[in-house]
Amino acid sequence: MEDKALYTQILGIQSPWEVMDIELDIDQERIDISVEWPAGMQAHCPVCQKENKETLCKIHDRRKERVWRHLDTCQMKTFIHSHIPRVKCPEHGIKTITIDWADEMARFSHLFEGFAIQMLKMSSGRMFNPYVWISGKPIFPEPAVMYRKPISFMIAFM
Ligand SMILES: [Zn+2]
Repeated sequence: MEDKALYTQILGIQSPWEVMDIELDIDQERIDISVEWPAGMQAHCPVCQKENKETLCKIHDRRKERVWRHLDTCQMKTFIHSHIPRVKCPEHGIKTITIDWADEMARFSHLFEGFAIQMLKMSSGRMFNPYVWISGKPIFPEPAVMYRKPISFMIAFM
């Protein structure tokens, strides 16, 4: 299996999103995966989707690159990169499309958030520290933080 096909499956990337590039940095113990919406492909307006309308719109432009922390690949910190498209809906104007791997304003994939919450439920903040790192820094400078609070706290380290 090719690397792109492998990451498409393990990240749960749904068509037409595509894994475009995978960069491995052995020294930094880091993998960066580029996921993009194909050029020229129309997309659903997110507001219309919430109203159960299937409005397909042309891509207006793309947002600047965003990065999401994902679960590690072996011992490598893994990050998803994307330039999320914005559509021009005739009813709602210019809107950023929804993505499958994270919530709208999140900087962590759904799977990473699930992992972080499970680890916090199972351990104190002190025990959790060695397992999840963001940009080389431990998530919690202090142990024993309530489990939902660190998700927003982690964003400060991105
Ligand atoms: Zn719309």
